[in-house]
Amino acid sequence: MVVEFEGMVFEDELVDIMKHCSEKKMWRGTIEERKDKFRYMHDMLNQFYHKNVSLVIEVTEESDKIPGSSGLSHYRKNPFTGDESILLSGRLSVVTLLHEWGHAIGCDQMNARKYSLGLFKCGWPNSYNNLKDDPRGGGLVLKQRDEIPDDIADSDNIPPLAGDKPF
Ligand SMILES: [Zn+2]
Repeated sequence: MVVEFEGMVFEDELVDIMKHCSEKKMWRGTIEERKDKFRYMHDMLNQFYHKNVSLVIEVTEESDKIPGSSGLSHYRKNPFTGDESILLSGRLSVVTLLHEWGHAIGCDQMNARKYSLGLFKCGWPNSYNNLKDDPRGGGLVLKQRDEIPDDIADSDNIPPLAGDKPF
């Protein structure tokens, strides 16, 4: 059985990875503990796609608190060496990491958006249901903390989708 989201289809194994990572409570722990959980998720995706994308995390306790600060995150393939890397900058955001992984597997901007939101929905259905359009036009963000049911209150605000720089 596969999961479908806005026309995009996800394999069972990929959906299971999301559920597995969700059980690890990506938003709980110290900043270093959380970085390890993101590296773990990244490694699982490398294994799933038989890829060797490196991950650089530029997140501090301070930057992690700033909504929308993950906009400098990006995926890059070195045209000379073929080396692939993802920079996760500003905030530790599952949606942002998944968005950049969407690019790593060849998605354009629209499909990277579907890929990240669809997989986020697989692993974090409660949080997904609390996403709404950012009034500032930054994509989907979690509702304000006081609107979030207790069971996902630990998940914190999800920053807008990784803003791809216009160059
Ligand atoms: Zn993008």
